Amino acid sequence: MITVEQHTFNPFQENTFLIYDETKEALVVDPGCYTDLEKLNFKKQIENKGLNLKGIISTHSHLDHVFGNKYIMKTFNVGLSIHKEDLQTLQLLNYTAGKYGIPNVEESPNPTSFIAEGDQIAVGNSFLDVVFVPGHAPGHIAFISHADKFVINGDCLFQGSIGRTDLPGGNHEQLLNSIKTKLFTLPNDFTVYCGHGASTTVGYEKLNNPFF
Ligand SMILES: [Zn+2]
Ligand SMILES: [Zn+2]
Repeated sequence: MITVEQHTFNPFQENTFLIYDETKEALVVDPGCYTDLEKLNFKKQIENKGLNLKGIISTHSHLDHVFGNKYIMKTFNVGLSIHKEDLQTLQLLNYTAGKYGIPNVEESPNPTSFIAEGDQIAVGNSFLDVVFVPGHAPGHIAFISHADKFVINGDCLFQGSIGRTDLPGGNHEQLLNSIKTKLFTLPNDFTVYCGHGASTTVGYEKLNNPFF
């Protein structure tokens, strides 16, 4: 069974997820740790739990989701997996951080592998299924655990809202379609972990989300 821990970091209040199962194998989804204190605290939490960190997987590569890439990759000697359509965004990290006026951003190393819809990602004895959910970002993917009934969906669907689509590669209709076809087709009791704010469920959003 996968345990999902939500950690909120950086000026954008981004949610980073630390996931692990009973084997103590772990993955970090979207490491947004930015300040030295955030990085150190996150490292200590991983170490104190005795986790064996296997890598980073990214829902997408907007700056707030990748601030901690370099630190986590170097500290734990692990790789980074993203969808190839978000590579350009990742490589523009310093440029984008400059535009937002965010100082002291560590350039992200390049990914060590690309992942796409249909791939299965192992964490210990458990698996996550990758689905492609573009619209907020061109290479946006989500990670589904059918066994543990959750999806880590980045910035697609939020509690009562959806991701913005005015950034490069964004497309409103595409985002609505991604949510309808890839997320709202999951059972109602699946937990939806979001890139910002509180988690929700598929059923709650189908009933209450004003965008649908
Ligand atoms: Zn984003
Ligand atoms: Zn975000």
